[in-house]
Formats: sequence, structure tokens, C-alpha cells
Amino acid sequence: MDLLKIENLEVVYNDVILVLKGLSLKARQGRITALLGPNGAGKSTTLKAVSGLIRTEDGEITEGSVLYQDRPIHKSLPERIVRDGIFQVMEGRRVFVDLSVEENLRCGGFTRPSSEYPESLAKVYAYFPRLQERRKQLAGYLSGGEQQMLAIGRALMAKPKLLLLDEPSLGLAPLLVEEIFTIVQRVNQEEGVTILLVEQNARAALSIAQHGYIMENGRIVMDGTSESLLNNPDVQEFYLGLG
Ligand code: ATP
Repeated sequence: MDLLKIENLEVVYNDVILVLKGLSLKARQGRITALLGPNGAGKSTTLKAVSGLIRTEDGEITEGSVLYQDRPIHKSLPERIVRDGIFQVMEGRRVFVDLSVEENLRCGGFTRPSSEYPESLAKVYAYFPRLQERRKQLAGYLSGGEQQMLAIGRALMAKPKLLLLDEPSLGLAPLLVEEIFTIVQRVNQEEGVTILLVEQNARAALSIAQHGYIMENGRIVMDGTSESLLNNPDVQEFYLGLG
């Protein structure tokens, strides 16, 4: 089953700049789907169109639809979308720097009953023991990798059905990228969370995704199983640096 279906989506910013130009993609329930492409292709915009955050940046969906569990959500408000089970982890690890690690996590669970809080927190700490060690520390003092862990942990507190991850590898050393991607894969397998993963690191993304889409200039230009994309000569040349 397709948990998310984006059909023929057009998005403009500030009434004039057309950024998505008829984009269609699907994210299958229980799977990891990768959305790859160069800088400025419109990957972040795609995620924001799903989470409803596009409106907070003077963006507007002018055409097409976003269906979640077969229901249109492209006119819903962001808070409604979070309550429906979709959570976006923004690019650049936007944690609350003046709050402690644990306070950040508590914020992530704002849509859930507080009775769930201890169990959700224990689960996040089991995935990210480093966050538990630093739970009283201000988030602003965490390393880049720890902040990325916190951003993902905060999302898990909301018990999402669909997790939108925007470039979790950005600016991280290769070993840390591997560590975080392994945890993303575990969250997918152990919690059954469906994941739409935006990445410039195509190799890392395709190593954990089952399906991938490549977008350029506001449209999908290619899609296939991760294996088929990894073996595709154009993908190898332009996205995997094997040309
Ligand atoms: P990156 O990896 O650099 O974030 P991306 O594929 O995620 O790239 P987007 O961030 O979606 O791409 O940006 C797509 C285009 O939309 C770019 O040309 C960008 O300048 C433009 N854009 C993004 N956000 C806004 C905004 N709030 N207002 C106007 N233009 C925007």
C-alpha cells in the first residue's frame, strides 16, 4: 500500500517562482524511499509541501495533490498533519539550542498524551544512548552529529507513521553518517515507520532505501529500486562519483 502519494504537484514561492513543476512520487507503507538530486532541485520543498510547512515560507501549492492514507492533506494545517502521523525533521538540525536535550524531546511529543512520555523517552534513549548521557545538557552544546540524533529523537517522540528526513547526513563525518543511517534503518524495521529520505549522499541513502527517486529542476527524472539505481550508469556518473 502507498502511504503517501504526491500527484502532479506544483509549488510556487512568493506568487512567482515555480519550484515544483508537476512532481509525482509514492512512499510505500513500511518502506524507506529515497529522494535524491542536486542542490536546488526542490527536494526540501517537496517535504515541506507534505508537512504543510510550505505556507510558513510564502510557498503555495498551485496544482496537484498530496494524498496520505488516500486522503488529501495538501490543504491541511501543519499541526493537523503532525497529529495525523507525519513528522518532518528539517535540514540543518533545528533543535532548540536554549533547551536541554530532554526538554527538546518533550517538545517533540506535544501531540501525544503525557502518559506516553516515559515509554517514548526510554525508546529514544535506547536508540540514542548518547542523548541519555547528555540529557540535562543544553542542546546548543551538542556536536553536529548529536544534534542530528536529537532532531530524529524528537521526531520519534511524536510516534510518527511517516517520517520525512531532510538531509540527515549534511555536514557529518562518514562514520557518523553510517551510525545515523543504521539507526534510521532500525527505526523503520523495528517501529514500522515509513520513511521519505531526502539526501545528497545518494550512496548512503540507497544503501538503506528500497526505492529511490531522482529529481532535477522540480520534476522526477528517474526512479527505480535502489539496486537498479546503484547499477545505472547515469546514476553512477552523476550521483555516485563513479563516472
Ligand atoms: P538543497 O539541497 O540546496 O536544500 P533542494 O533540492 O532541497 O536543495 P529546495 O530547498 O526545495 O531544493 O529549493 C528549490 C528552489 O526553491 C531553489 O531554487 C530555492 O532557491 C527556492 N526556494 C526555496 N525556498 C524558498 C523560499 N522560501 N522562497 C523563495 N524561493 C525558495
